[in-house]
Amino acid sequence: MIGSTGTALTAVVASVLDAPTRGELRVRHEALVTVDQAGIIVSVLDPSDSEYEQLRDRFARNGHLTELEEGQFLLPGLIDLHNHAPQWPQLGKALDVPLEVWLNRYTFPLEAKYADLGFAGEVYESLVDSMIGNGTTTAVYFATTHLPATKLLVDLCIEKGQRALVGKVAMDDPDGCPDFYRDESAATAIAATAELIDYVESHPGNRDGLVLPAITPRFIPSCTDELMAGLGELATHSSAHIQTHCSESDWAHSYGVSRFGQTDTATYRDFGLLTSKTVLAHSNFVNAQDLAMIADAGAAVAHCPLSNVYFANAVFPTRDAFAADVHIGLGTDVSGGPGPSVFSAAASAVAASRVREDGVDPIVTADERGVPDSRISFAEAFWMATTGGGEALRLPIGVLSPGYSFDAIAIDTAVPETDLNIWPDIDSSLDVLQKIINNTVRRNVSRVWIQGVLVKSPSR
Ligand SMILES: [Zn+2]
Repeated sequence: MIGSTGTALTAVVASVLDAPTRGELRVRHEALVTVDQAGIIVSVLDPSDSEYEQLRDRFARNGHLTELEEGQFLLPGLIDLHNHAPQWPQLGKALDVPLEVWLNRYTFPLEAKYADLGFAGEVYESLVDSMIGNGTTTAVYFATTHLPATKLLVDLCIEKGQRALVGKVAMDDPDGCPDFYRDESAATAIAATAELIDYVESHPGNRDGLVLPAITPRFIPSCTDELMAGLGELATHSSAHIQTHCSESDWAHSYGVSRFGQTDTATYRDFGLLTSKTVLAHSNFVNAQDLAMIADAGAAVAHCPLSNVYFANAVFPTRDAFAADVHIGLGTDVSGGPGPSVFSAAASAVAASRVREDGVDPIVTADERGVPDSRISFAEAFWMATTGGGEALRLPIGVLSPGYSFDAIAIDTAVPETDLNIWPDIDSSLDVLQKIINNTVRRNVSRVWIQGVLVKSPSR
């Protein structure tokens, strides 16, 4: 992964914040980041490096140097490991009922509308613009059961330059899916998934592989055995990723246990769906054996902390997942989570871990109220939002080092009417990171690069 041989064509000078090691913030002031024609980082030089001045001058003379100003910071692009694209019109509402009611009352009727390509185009265009606007350089999208609308989402991601994994949702079980919204049969769902994989991989605009296909069984309650077995078979013959939901809520978890006599993790493993390219959303009710199984498979968890507050009945044991060496990143879970920002997911991950550690009921004594040693730090949350997400997807993203794709964002703390205020004499670099995580809004994300291409520019 490390060691690009390309020749650098462009460069950015900036204060760079990233987190290659979990829990540690790396800070490089006035770093010169050089990027080749393919969008790969060639070098990251400190002012003390011997070639620094000469290279910086050369890029400046050629008009290929972007210099971030005081109060602006360069960070890796954010990675959203779990996002339901069709639920975008529902963002910020419908948070009043449990998961099983939410699906039938709000979500399945909304997702059924994507049979209409005009509606799908309008929503998906708005969604991808917002994701890029908020600094999400990679999004892992569930689409719907509809192949044409899912292909349209692929087209839009390619057109707008967003790195994405896209899956046609597979759900065929008449007992778990409404008549108006499900695949006709396991066979048609599997065939349509195979067709999407071909479509993405042979797409003429996708030669760099910016968009990747994902095999997407919705979750165990909506899939027949035949469907899961067929998708597992398809996974063994393709290089596609796999995404699904795992042990999300009391209801979803106990449904899987009562149907198969084992946890969701074990069921996915048995159907060939737990691989080194699998992303399991939520996974709140995983036990120690499940975590070991996920780690052994090299699979990943998409931690969706705010969605979990509304739908999962419990707080994900993030620190246990760290201890088990499970790959883990963050998901917004649009629209189970009510906001589009991965920074917000990172802030929620920290808050949720504190709630888990301290407990919730003041009647219970402090020593019995929570789960000791559950808290995570802001640096760990930042790592999940970037490096952890890249590792989860097995892609060279999330770190600003040579050999990685230049997927990066500029955070501007000096835009008008901002609540993201830095006091240089008072704030340490870790303070700056905490403030960025807690107070960044869309207007603070002034530039976004994906694979070296500037896809969002400053509006002022
Ligand atoms: Zn979800």
